[in-house]
Amino acid sequence: MERDIFDHDHEAFREASLEFLAREVTPHYATWETEGIVPRELFTGLGELGLFAAVPEEFGGSGVEDLRFSAVLAEEAAEAGVFPALTGATLQSDVVLPYLLRLASAEQQQRWLPAIAEGRTILAIAMTEPGTGSDLAGIRTRAVREGDHYVVNGAKTFITNGINADLVLVVVRTGDDPHRGLSLLAVERGTPGFERGRRLEKLGMHVQDTAELSFSDAIVPAANLVGEEGGGFFALTSNLPTERLSIAIAAVAQARTALRWTADHVRARKAFGVPIGSFQTTRHRLADLDTEIDITRHYVDRCLAELVAGRLSPVDAAKAKLWATELLGRTTDACVQLHGGYGYMTEYPIARLYADARVSRIYGGTSEIMREIIGRSLRLD
Ligand SMILES: Cc1cc2nc3c(=O)[nH]c(=O)nc-3n(C[C@H](O)[C@H](O)[C@H](O)COP(=O)(O)OP(=O)(O)OC[C@H]3O[C@@H](n4cnc5c(N)ncnc54)[C@H](O)[C@@H]3O)c2cc1C
Repeated sequence: MERDIFDHDHEAFREASLEFLAREVTPHYATWETEGIVPRELFTGLGELGLFAAVPEEFGGSGVEDLRFSAVLAEEAAEAGVFPALTGATLQSDVVLPYLLRLASAEQQQRWLPAIAEGRTILAIAMTEPGTGSDLAGIRTRAVREGDHYVVNGAKTFITNGINADLVLVVVRTGDDPHRGLSLLAVERGTPGFERGRRLEKLGMHVQDTAELSFSDAIVPAANLVGEEGGGFFALTSNLPTERLSIAIAAVAQARTALRWTADHVRARKAFGVPIGSFQTTRHRLADLDTEIDITRHYVDRCLAELVAGRLSPVDAAKAKLWATELLGRTTDACVQLHGGYGYMTEYPIARLYADARVSRIYGGTSEIMREIIGRSLRLD
């Protein structure tokens, strides 16, 4: 079925993205995977491509906030089997930048946005702590105001771009109320008392740096408070639907790629004298997944249109993330199975995608938390 959510500008961006990925990402991907991090130049290249163009014109962007551009890039990256290299950059464009566009003061925007538009400043967001992830109200990293600065103490973990980031939007506790006591502080590279811990070893997504951060009497200027003191929780809940939809978009694209690789494999691989694709069980399994992926893509496209129109509800975004990422899990599992032993070998892309995909049911809110959000909307008690 034809998709009608993209216009000429998005398709032009798709062409430019394809060319960028073929030139700047695919040839280097294996090296970056070994190194466990993407180079900073990837961000400046993506800045030139226009990924951070939501930044207003006066600060070097085009002022067009439209998730469809990053969706197009994510789709093409998934198609090329290199999506994990883009997760940090799409986190920057889809998740962190919107906070600064909505909440940063004029002075902060002047200070930060020009370098963000160019990809020279890399962003991260630090909510999760060793002691709490799903439950934001459990955040303990504390920021105490002393004159013109905050003194920050605490630790964050699992932070995407944790090593590369120049500006980390840190969720801190400035008061005791579980929700109204949370605020957002932008902590810059070089802040005294702010340290990066190890680059964490992961099951998949080896190309993406994920790190621990620690704050020991870190001195952060009060001028780096983003939004109102105490407004952190509400800022987070209003931005999370975009993050969840962005994860759902990538999940559908990755599932399509897994299916394509597997169709190629079962056509070529023979058992008992015939291609394994000719077995009815294989055909039916792939037919089921193809159907589910197509239907899911329509729902996710619809959510994207709703988001662009400013109407996407947190519940609909949760449904998109829950369904698309669970489907990605079912798809990669079935596709590994259909590859037989080769599916378990990391030199085969399907094995790496199986491992890379697992996190999509965990980060950005787990599947259980998505079910909680959806379940609450049913008003059952
Ligand atoms: C690769 C990677 C990158 C990440 N990037 C970032 C990042 O950039 N910034 C950031 O802040 N965080 C990041 N995270 C953290 C991620 O968002 C959290 O891991 C996730 O929200 C889950 O939190 P947790 O790990 O503390 O698990 P927990 O909250 O301890 O959950 C453990 C289990 O309990 C379940 N559970 C919890 N509460 C409930 C409930 N009410 N009902 C039913 N089940 C429940 C969960 O679903 C899960 O299955 C990243 C994580 C990974 C793995």
